[in-house]
Amino acid sequence: MKKAIQSSLDFDREHIWHPYTSMTRPLKTYPVASACGVYLNLADGRKLIDGMSSWWAAIHGYNHPLLNAAAKDQIDKMAHVMFGGITHEPAIALSRKLIDITPAPLDRIFLCDSGSVSVEVAIKMAFQYWHSKNHPEKNTLMTVKSGYHGDTFFAMSVCDPVTGMHHMFNDILPKHHFCEAPACRFDDLWDDRHIAAMKTLIQKHHTSCAAVILEPVVQGAGGMRFYSPVYLKKLRQLCDEYNLLLILDEIATGFGRTGELFGCNHANISPDIMCVGKALTGGYLTLAATLTTEKISTAISSGESGALMHGPTYMGNPLACSIALANLNLLFSCDWQANIKRIESKLIAGLEPCRTFKQVKDVRVLGAIGVVEMKDPVDMERIQQQFVDQGIWIRPFGRLIYTMPPYIIEDAELDTLTRKMTQIISKTGS
Ligand SMILES: *Cc1c(COP(=O)(O)O)cnc(C)c1O
Repeated sequence: MKKAIQSSLDFDREHIWHPYTSMTRPLKTYPVASACGVYLNLADGRKLIDGMSSWWAAIHGYNHPLLNAAAKDQIDKMAHVMFGGITHEPAIALSRKLIDITPAPLDRIFLCDSGSVSVEVAIKMAFQYWHSKNHPEKNTLMTVKSGYHGDTFFAMSVCDPVTGMHHMFNDILPKHHFCEAPACRFDDLWDDRHIAAMKTLIQKHHTSCAAVILEPVVQGAGGMRFYSPVYLKKLRQLCDEYNLLLILDEIATGFGRTGELFGCNHANISPDIMCVGKALTGGYLTLAATLTTEKISTAISSGESGALMHGPTYMGNPLACSIALANLNLLFSCDWQANIKRIESKLIAGLEPCRTFKQVKDVRVLGAIGVVEMKDPVDMERIQQQFVDQGIWIRPFGRLIYTMPPYIIEDAELDTLTRKMTQIISKTGS
């Protein structure tokens, strides 16, 4: 048995790329044999409490009976059919639900296969909109630093210029306009100076710009930063005043993670275009969606091409749509907001002690997201091993050690998770 695991691991190291890894100096990977509830079961028999929800996705934990049932039920009808010239109930029912739960003017939806693609579609919608309005010169974007919008080229062009590797792809990436990330923390008293940099950027470039794109309230993979919802409110006003569309990337923030259903709900605003993904299928299959308004969809449809020029092969995949609908129904079947509050208080209580360590720069919690920011980058491979040895699954990057556990995590498991994080952090870099 041990030998079989090792030979698989050797093959993996030699032949298979993992996210953001080298093929000549691959980092250690841990074989998982199964997963259930809040636990990842390693092939060597150990059980880890999952603190990552498989990158924001597995909100109801793994192997959930209701989601399994939705998958099995759908797979016996059809796993997939093309969406060109064909429609089906799973796509219709899911779209109804998404339109119902997102802010009111968003009532046109494009189903696609991953977060990055939904960002590509959002950007294409914005460009096609202005093209149809006889403003083809509005063909760049504005955003803030420290953002993350995906790994495809256009999405990458609006990621943070440093961590998004703009330098390496300098000659290839389209050029957009960046300002400093919002400096105001989530709870900070508002001061108009917090949005001065964005206002200046907008005043300077609005005539050549189609849209402002950003992650609402929480900047995820670009730095795990939380900022004031008032920033979004003010940005919405500026976009209206200067004829810019507002694209909100809710791929990480969507479906309750921050304590509101969507990040934009903190500010009571609605974007012109919204991207959702990640938790949409509860971590079962890859699916995302781009929502927009009737105004924008009508303009696009009356433009030169007469259509939105996009259509992935697996568009509206019935299996993914069925699971996504079951996933959303599951979310709304309980008081999810009270549950996120419960997780939030536990994360605050559990992680706040880290603030006293001299190697820690900041501790912040919003909804079911807990972040410990270190002063120096951590040795990821080493600290990951320590987490695994202690029975928890946490995957830090750079200076950030963070957790966004499945919503089903119980109090005792949360205590264990944060206690072990705190223990390991206390011994790191000191
Ligand atoms: C993960 C993420 C994406 C990219 O989604 P993929 O499904 O990985 O392509 C885009 N935007 C944000 C905010 C994300 O967190």
